[in-house]
Parts: sequence; C-alpha cells; structure tokens
Amino acid sequence: MPPDQTAAAPGRDFIRDIVEADLKSGRVKSVVTRFPPEPNGYLHIGHAKSICLNFGIAKEYGGVCHLRFDDTNPAKEEQEFIDAIERDVRWLGFDWGTHLHHASDYFERLYEWAEHLIRAGKAYVDDTPPDEMAKMRGTLTEAGKESPFRNRSVEESLDLFRRMRAGEFANGARVLRAKIDMASGNINLRDPVLYRILHAEHPRTGKKWSIYPTYDFAHGQSDAIEGITHSICTLEFEDHRPLYDWLIANLPVPSQPHQYEFARLNLGYTVLSKRFLTQLVQDKRVSGWDDPRMPTLAGLRRRGVPPEAIRDFVGRIGVAKANSTVDLGLFDFAVREALNKSALRRMGVLRPLKVVIENYPEGKSELLDAVNHPDDPARGTRPVPFGRELYVERDDFMENPPKKFYRLSPGKEVRLRYAYFVTCKDVVKNAAGEVTELRCTYDPATKGGNAPDGRKVQATLHWVAAAQSATAEIRLYNPLFTKPDPDPANLIAALNPNSLEVIKDARLEPALADAGDAPVQFERQGYFVRDRDSAPGKPVFNRTVGLRDSYAKA
Ligand code: ATP
Ligand code: MG
Repeated sequence: MPPDQTAAAPGRDFIRDIVEADLKSGRVKSVVTRFPPEPNGYLHIGHAKSICLNFGIAKEYGGVCHLRFDDTNPAKEEQEFIDAIERDVRWLGFDWGTHLHHASDYFERLYEWAEHLIRAGKAYVDDTPPDEMAKMRGTLTEAGKESPFRNRSVEESLDLFRRMRAGEFANGARVLRAKIDMASGNINLRDPVLYRILHAEHPRTGKKWSIYPTYDFAHGQSDAIEGITHSICTLEFEDHRPLYDWLIANLPVPSQPHQYEFARLNLGYTVLSKRFLTQLVQDKRVSGWDDPRMPTLAGLRRRGVPPEAIRDFVGRIGVAKANSTVDLGLFDFAVREALNKSALRRMGVLRPLKVVIENYPEGKSELLDAVNHPDDPARGTRPVPFGRELYVERDDFMENPPKKFYRLSPGKEVRLRYAYFVTCKDVVKNAAGEVTELRCTYDPATKGGNAPDGRKVQATLHWVAAAQSATAEIRLYNPLFTKPDPDPANLIAALNPNSLEVIKDARLEPALADAGDAPVQFERQGYFVRDRDSAPGKPVFNRTVGLRDSYAKA
C-alpha cells in the first residue's frame, strides 16, 4: 500500500508547534522531555510512538529526554522489565545519556509534599473501605459523597499518615486523599487518592516503604523535580490534567511543567495493551514477550524488523489529537522499504518440488554468479551451485494450469534465475497421484539466463541445487488476530489459530547456512532472518514480512 497521505509533513505536528512557540517566546529556555514507562511489561510499538516523539523532539530542538521509570507499583514491577525497557529504547536508536531516573528516587520528597498538603488542610487520611469509597465517588451525572473522615483534624491525619508509613496498618486499611471537590464534574478531582498502603518489596527501595504514591501524585511532581518542560502523554490522561495542574499549583515544586496529550497508536489486527500482552505470555499462547508475533519491540526485533523501519513508520503516521487506527499494511510497507535497501538477496525454496534436468550430465555441478543486491552492484555477487537435481517451489508448478499461469507446467519453458532456461517434459507421481518430481531439459546456450536467439520466457523462478542445499525450518507469521478490530471484550476468542505456520523442510542455498543476524530477502518470497533457535547445521528462519500483504482485504 502507498505511504499515508494524511500524515503531517515529516517533523511537523501540533506538539512540535507548541515546543517551537515556547522556545520562540522564551517561555522555556531549552526543551526537556521524558519517556515514563511503568516497568510492568515489555515495550510495544505504541510505546515506540511515544519514544520517537519524546526523544525525537529533544534531539530536534537541542534539548534532552529523560528515561524515567514510573515504578510506583511494586506489586507488578520487575527487574526483567526494567532491563528489557532500557535495551529496547537503545535498540530503537535513542540515548538518555546521564538522565536515567526513577519515580522511586523521589519517594522521600513526595512524602514530604504529602505532609505539606495535610498541613495545608488539602489532604486527609480516609478510613473508608475501598468498595465503599468507590460507591461514594458518584458518576458522570451524579456528584460524589463526602467521606465522614474528610474533616478530621490536621493532627489526626498527620499522625495516621506517619503510622501508615511506619507500616502499622494492613493493605487497603486507609489511604491519603487530596481534599478538592466531591461535586466536581471531573471525577479525577473528587478527592483523588494520593497514597495507598502496600506491604510489598520494591526492586529499588526494598522494604523501606509500606505506602506508595499513586500515578497522579508521582507523575507531575517527578516532572517538576526533573525540570520537564513538556510532559507529553496519551489522550486518556487529558481528564487528569486538572489534577496535574492542581498539585503543581498547591505544592512547593521547583518548576512548573505542563502536560500535553496526543492520540495513542492503535494498529489493525493488533492489541497494544500491556495487560493483554501479559495474559498472552502468562497463558503461554505465545512463546514469550519476544515471540515474533508479539507487537513488542523485542518480538519485532526477533522477527527481523529493523529499528529504522519502526522510526520511519512512526514518522509516517504523524502525531494527532484524534484517536484512529492505523492500517497494519502501512507498518509492513515501512518494513519492506527499509529491508529492500538493506537486505542481501538469496534463494530459498519453502515448499520444495524436485526437478531432474535429464540432459544435464550426472555427477556434474557448476557454480553460477548470483547478484547480492539488484540496486547496489557494489555488494557484489556470490557463487550458487547448479546441478542435475534441483528444487523449485511447489507453487510454481501446475499440471493443468489456467490461462494466465506463466510458470512451470508440462511443455512450458521458464528461466531459472541466474542459471538456464528449462522446459518441463514429464511429471512423476506417487501412488496417491501427487506430483513428486518434474523431468525437465535445459538449454546450455542460455547460461546466465538469456537466450542468444532472443527468445523470451514468461517467468523466472528461484531454485536451489538438491545436493548442496541446506534443510531449514521456516516460521511464517500471520497477524495474531483474524480481524483488524477484535472485540476488546473477547480478545482470546478473536485470536488467529494460524498465526504461526512452521515449515520443517525448506531448502536454502548454501550461502544461507551461515547467514548472520541481518535479515535477507529470499527472492520472490519475502524477508527472513535467522532465529536464535538455530543450531549448527539446523538453521531456523523467521519470516519478517512477505513481499506483498497476504492478509489484505480480498
Ligand atoms: P498499556 O496501555 O499498553 O498498558 P501504558 O500506558 O500502561 O501502556 P506505560 O508504561 O505507562 O504503559 O507507558 C509509557 C508511555 O508510553 C506513556 O507515556 C504512555 O502514554 C505511552 N504509550 C503507551 N501506549 C501507547 C500507545 N499505544 N501509543 C502511544 N503512546 C503510548
Ligand atoms: Mg500507563
């Protein structure tokens, strides 16, 4: 599919307009952004949009971008995720320099600020049980009810809050809430929870804390401590902005950050929710966070997607204020664009059908020159062996072809790429009537693939020599879902049962037996990369992307 015509011109969007205007007017001296992942899963392609935006803006305007772990929920956070996030941001091509931060670095200061709010009469400890409190929040059309603990004295709240910190109370027994407005039209301002009791060991602070700040209390204040000028997040936080601003206005914070919201990435045939991706991993519906079918950066990397393709894709989709779903075809387009330039060409036969060249001498073999990259002669050629017995793609032969089938069929002459013209003379079948072998002849005068008499053929096929080819396992990936927009209420039912197809006995030209980690193009098939499950003499390849969409609308 063609590039998206609706995307903003490269490098232009409403957030960059705001940043530019702020620099021009002098509201900010230099730009400081941050990417704030919660280390409770691996990063996915949606996060890549946020990473490219935050790090990209910092780079373009001579500022800095911090990597800040939003590690305020130790119940779900793990070191494995922290390590994976750092690895994936670097792989995507970004560098936070010395600016690696953690919300947990600020726990002491956040605690002091919580006491500050209590002393100012702007926060209180609430003993209401959680389910009760949820009911008292009200609805969009109905005001909330004030807690009976709302007007307890500053001294009492302060004492209880200190004892919460000291670990005296059980999980869920009490919370600290801001005292704002239970009748506010914005539910986030109805005395939001700032601290909850959680007796859990934290990857960084260990057992020091038995209370942890909520996202809302930690986020803006962390931004203020770090001097973030533009705190860029996704649209679901738009309704939290009044609370973000209230906290900044009511606390003695060292700077005044602003929050800006953009539309999150939604991608066809894909679900970008860490909760769901976690479920796929835990239920073993995929082999792990880096299963090549996963939309995680680790999965895409293992599938062979180069980081420049992801950056290019993110640039093409642009940054907007309205939610929409991007066609998966656009992602594949960006992957092909990148790989078309970088990938060496090779020949691999996925579903082999044997060919015997009857007039080619038995025992003879020769090396033919094959081009490594059609657009880049500097990348040279390689020798490919040719002999009497070959394999071609089963799909490239039809015994009774329809009119427009130009490839091999009885009596038909085709070109074998880099080799010779061959003509199919006869078909060998097994007892079940299945074609097991083609008997062909070749024309020695057509060496290199051209006929000196000028005669033409209508098809050029890829092939490998039977004796010198390597057997390989090939893993073909299809989208995880059968529909572009699976029902969020029933995602498991919408999973594609054929998202992984394994071919055990593909045949590859010898140059592929020791392919490195760079993706290659199997001519006429697509782009493939060696998987880490490969063993000596037993290569395994993942299909990164086909040359055309197979799932596109019929
Ligand atoms: P998920 O919704 O997958 O659980 P999250 O928002 O909980 O993701 P965080 O680790 O909090 O995950 O996200 C870090 C940053 O990435 C946040 O600023 C968030 O807004 C942004 N982000 C998450 N998902 C997307 C997405 N699909 N498109 C763009 N940005 C995203
Ligand atoms: Mg989040």
